[in-house]
Amino acid sequence: MMIDARCGHLEEKIYADVHNGLCRKCHSNFTFLLELEQKYGEDALIEYWYSKILTYLSPEKKEQDVNCLIDHLIEFYQENLIKYPSKKNYTKKMLYMLYSLQEPFDIETLK
Ligand SMILES: [Zn+2]
Repeated sequence: MMIDARCGHLEEKIYADVHNGLCRKCHSNFTFLLELEQKYGEDALIEYWYSKILTYLSPEKKEQDVNCLIDHLIEFYQENLIKYPSKKNYTKKMLYMLYSLQEPFDIETLK
């Protein structure tokens, strides 16, 4: 049975149920981000988000690949904030960047 996954894409219910409610593509993007952090460290992920923010600032270069994942990522880092108190500063930095990515879209909806 196909359902709307949390990210807004169509996916088999049986797949989404065991992968945080995400579709295959978004789950693989999410896994990619975690691997990036594991392989290259926290700074690499911070740089990744920083470059995303810069990308969003130029309207002609808007990428859509992680837009739909942001809610999930915010939830993920909010949980980490509680789970890993020693990483608090890093996790807060990540949340701050994710909120910055979300903000432009909130402004759009106010227009
Ligand atoms: Zn998706």
